[in-house]
This record gives sequence, structure tokens and C-alpha cells, in this order.
Amino acid sequence: MPLEEIWNKCLSIIEKKVGDNVFELWFKPMKLAQLKEQNAVIDIPNRFFKDWIDDYYPALLTDALGDVSGHPVSVKLRVAEKIDPETRKMDARLEVRKQRLASKGIYLNPKYIFDNFITGPSNQFAHAAAMAVAENPGASYNPLFIYGGVGLGKTHLITAIGNKVADRKKDFNILYVSSEQFTNEVVSAVRHGKTEELKKKYRNLDLLLVDDVQFLENKAATQEELFHTINVLYEKQSQIVISSDRPPKEIKTITDRLRSRFGMGLIADIQAPEPELKMAIIQKKAEMERIRLSEDVVSFLASKVKSNIRELEGCLIRLGAHSSLTGCPIDVAMAKNILRDILAEEDVPITVETIQKTVAEHFGIKYLDMKSKRRNKEIAMPRQIAMYISRQLTGSSLSDIGKNFGGKDHATVIYACKQIEDKRAKDEDFNKRIETLKNKIKI
Ligand code: ADP
Ligand code: MG
Repeated sequence: MPLEEIWNKCLSIIEKKVGDNVFELWFKPMKLAQLKEQNAVIDIPNRFFKDWIDDYYPALLTDALGDVSGHPVSVKLRVAEKIDPETRKMDARLEVRKQRLASKGIYLNPKYIFDNFITGPSNQFAHAAAMAVAENPGASYNPLFIYGGVGLGKTHLITAIGNKVADRKKDFNILYVSSEQFTNEVVSAVRHGKTEELKKKYRNLDLLLVDDVQFLENKAATQEELFHTINVLYEKQSQIVISSDRPPKEIKTITDRLRSRFGMGLIADIQAPEPELKMAIIQKKAEMERIRLSEDVVSFLASKVKSNIRELEGCLIRLGAHSSLTGCPIDVAMAKNILRDILAEEDVPITVETIQKTVAEHFGIKYLDMKSKRRNKEIAMPRQIAMYISRQLTGSSLSDIGKNFGGKDHATVIYACKQIEDKRAKDEDFNKRIETLKNKIKI
């Protein structure tokens, strides 16, 4: 197959996955320059493209090329513009560090270190706890459990612990694992009769970092394995660090004994960033990426992006890429224009009414039934679902939500949320249905 044909096929796979906007902006300007056996070279306009792909779609190009060519492919992104010597030096340093750790079997993102983690009131506590643990692994807080919303810095912080410990304790056995990967390892070990090897791998660690533990909901065998791993590591004073998008008591359907292990050391939360913190992060990131920004653009971004720091950085990279392509400096008008699709989303708050309408439509009942007192199941269940989703997606208080449902009190809303949560935990189809509904509402 000629290169161009391969590339066009890849592009159409990618377009389906990422949608029009993202595709036009980021993937259309790329070009497949070479494909020799397993090795592909893709030309990209500037280094922001690389950063962006690394952050948002690390596996997308490899997967698409692999699918089209029928064998695994490793992808190198080749930047067209000249990279300035400082940036090149910094990249090289990171790469050396990454390789050095990899040669000891330690795989940690070298960019996630304490030095570039900025603190404010919202994340100070989690940061201090992480520092304490990195300085005295196994001795201060064990396990350390860090929780907070999407894109607020959990992975950065727990990886920073790993990086710092790796620097200070050269002979330490350190492992970062996402909960999905851990689950896959457990499932595969059980299937292939290799549980002893799995135990050996995990129970000999000096530092274990488990990311996004909320994904272990409903996974009994994996929870069991994690429980025993934590016990063994704890006994020999190895450090355990866990992250989650919610506190242990809100992770449903994990066993009580695992939940109690999670809470045995210290639980630290990361809250949504305050405006000053967002501004400081933008400034730092712009400095690192060598993007020139004026004060008013910094405050514009900080005010528009509500809380997700990954999204904040995404906006900045997008502006950098555009400015580098066109040669135009970044100002507020440009930012408004380039980021309009992202910012528009942020501007429209989700209301209880939208939720009621979408849920009613989904179940084929009348919008007015959401507010009625009728108790038959066909209506009561969707009504409870709408209350539950309102609780999750709007900032409304329980009693405000109740009022919107024809003057119910806050206890009725709590009861509804509990019913739906229990059903989600027990019934996977139902669970999926709720997720689909939520996504539909968020668009
Ligand atoms: P989470 O794991 O909570 O979803 P990440 O740790 O992946 O979030 O953070 C998202 C992005 O935001 C990363 O690029 C990270 O470096 C950056 N980030 C988050 N918090 C901070 C912070 N306090 N200072 C600097 N960068 C941050
Ligand atoms: Mg994360």
C-alpha cells in the first residue's frame, strides 16, 4: 500500500475517534513521511503538536497505524521547525533521566516532579503530605491516599513522590501502576496460573504507587490482591501511595476491609484550584514552553477554564501551536477565537431542567411527570435518575433539586440518590445506561 493511502486510512480512523474540531486542528497538519517495517516517522509543524499528542492521545497514532498496517508500529514525531538549544537540552536531560530509571526497571514520567508542581491553598495539604512521604518513605503516612477531581494533579503528585524517592534511594524498588493495568495483570496472572510471579513482583516493592483506584469498583479479585499486597508491604514498612477521584468512603462496592486499609494512614484531598493558582500554573507552563503571554491573556484563561488544569494547559499549548504556525502574537482576541469551542462548553451550565428533559425523553415519559406525585415505576425510576444526575452535574443543593421536582424535600432526593447508586453497583447494564445519559447531558 502506498504511504499516502495508509495515511489516509489512519486519518479517517482518527477522525472518527476525536471528532471534527480536534481533527482539523491537530491531525490534519500531520503527514506520514516514512514507514519502514515497524518504524514510522510523522512530520508535525511544531513541538506543541508533540506535547499535545503526548498529553491527550499518546496511543492514538500507534494504534491507528498498527490497525492499518496490520503489525505493531513505533512512531517518531519529527518537528519541522527548528527547536531552540535550551529546549533541546531540557528534552535531552529528561530523556537521559527516563532511560536511567528504565534501566533499573522504574518507569515514571520524568516531567512530573515536585519542582514544577505549584501550590496554593487548594492543594497545599496534599503537596505537604506527598513531600513528607517522599522524604521518609514508609515512616510517616502509610498508606498515603490522595483524592481529587479530574485533571487536578493527582498523577503528577504521586509520580513526583516516585521521582524524588528514586533520586534519594538508589536501590529502592519502585513501581507506578494504574488501576487498570493492575487489574489486567491480576486477570492475566489468574488465567495463566502465574499468581506467584505477580505476588513476587508486587510484594517485594519498597514503594508502590497505585493511580486511580476508583476503577477497582466491582472488581473483586483485583481488590483482594491489592488488599493482601498492601498488608504485606505495610508490614515490612514499604510505602504505599494511592490516588482516587473520590475519598474511600465514596468508592462504592469495594470491600470494607480494603476501604479501611485505604484510610489507615493519611487521606489528603486536592480541591479545585483558586484563580491565583491557575494563573501561577499558566505562567510557569508558558515559561517552560517558551510561550509569550501578556497578563490579560493569563487572567482571561484563568477565568475561563473552571478547574481542570489539564484543560488549562491544553488551551495554552493550543495557543502556542497557533502562534508558532502563524507568527502572530497571542492576545485576548486570538485566545477567544482559537479557544471558542472549548470555552463555549464551559460557559453553559447544566440545569436541572435540561437533565429532566433529557431523561424524560430517554425513557419516553412526559417532562411534566418529572414534577408529578405519581409513584408508578415507569415514572418514579426516571425521576429518581434525574434527581441523581442533577445532584452530580449541577451545583444545586439537595433542597433546590427537590423543589424542581414538584416540591419534594431534601430527604426524598437523598433517598433517590441512594436507590440509584445501589442499583448502579449491582446492575452493570443499568450502570452503563446512566453513564450514557450523563454523557448525553454534558454535550
Ligand atoms: P489527575 O491525575 O488528577 O487527573 P494530572 O496529575 O494528570 O491530574 O494533572 C493534569 C495536568 O495538570 C498535568 O499536566 C500536570 O502536570 C498539571 N498540573 C496539575 N496540578 C498542577 C500544579 N499544582 N502545578 C503544576 N502543574 C499541575
Ligand atoms: Mg491521573
